[in-house]
Amino acid sequence: MSRIVAPTGAPETAPSLPQAGLPPCAGAPAACEVAGMRCRIIVEPGIGPETGLPWPADVQEFAAESPVLADSYLAGLAPSGGPPRIFITRKPLATSRCAAVFGYAGRRTRAAVVSLFGLESDGPQQTRRRLEALVAHELGHLAGYGHCRTPGCLMRAAESVEDLDSRQLAFCRACRVRRRLPLAAGVLAFCLAVSLVLDVAVERIRNRSHVFSWRPDGAAAVLELEGAPVLRLRNPAAAQAAADALNDLYASLSPPPLGFDPNGGSPRIMAGGRQVVSLEAVDTGGVGAERFAGRWIARFDPVIQGKGTVQQGCPSCHIDRRGEVLDAMARRSRWWR
Ligand SMILES: [Zn+2]
Ligand SMILES: [Zn+2]
Repeated sequence: MSRIVAPTGAPETAPSLPQAGLPPCAGAPAACEVAGMRCRIIVEPGIGPETGLPWPADVQEFAAESPVLADSYLAGLAPSGGPPRIFITRKPLATSRCAAVFGYAGRRTRAAVVSLFGLESDGPQQTRRRLEALVAHELGHLAGYGHCRTPGCLMRAAESVEDLDSRQLAFCRACRVRRRLPLAAGVLAFCLAVSLVLDVAVERIRNRSHVFSWRPDGAAAVLELEGAPVLRLRNPAAAQAAADALNDLYASLSPPPLGFDPNGGSPRIMAGGRQVVSLEAVDTGGVGAERFAGRWIARFDPVIQGKGTVQQGCPSCHIDRRGEVLDAMARRSRWWR
């Protein structure tokens, strides 16, 4: 919105404008460009090339009251497709909050009203220049530009005709940068959202990596895989150590395979040089240590290895494969109970 502080009150003379080659100013709504921005111009009868209008325009009696109340007029306007519409009147212009304005843009209807009132005192050439500064400014508002303090900038608010005269028909550098800020903010918000999603995914994978747990069972303990018993141990300390070792292996991207180690009469299950569990602490139900370990490893090494991150490329495979393995296990007899 541009304010008129002191309309000059000069007579609205309309001397003829000797400009050859101007486009015709009547007929169907025509699109034109003002300072590089497309629009359609609608003028009141009596406004044309001879009064300084440099664009093709649709002639229409669009607002009867005087002064024209720009905001209420635009609010009652039906939205239309195509380029934004600029209504040009000779009547004084006001809004419900401002007694006198040069122009007013309504983003919702993508239209603006500007007034020639007080602009025509210095001849049609000057009127034309002021009209361009006014229309381009309102088109700037419709394109999302706000007001700017840079002297000479198209988006500097005008409080007098002199302010209009000092406007260039171009956005200053600060305006162009500010215009790009919403885009930069959008990119930043997108990056933050992606980072948040990744955080949640990593946390989920990390939580899902702690799949082995144990619970006391009298003086003994039961090692569990997602709540299902997988090993009966003679003491809680061995169960804790086994759960820790198995969870570490499970969370590892390329875990070493589980293997049996006779260990000179103290047999144990190993993985990559680390003891997972000593068979001496395991209730094997009377089954020999090596045989028991062989069966156990055959069933649970696939759980540990069923991630395939290195070979298959994605941590999510980890969870998918583990689901398959658990399903397969659930279908088997629970021999370890
Ligand atoms: Zn403005
Ligand atoms: Zn600016």
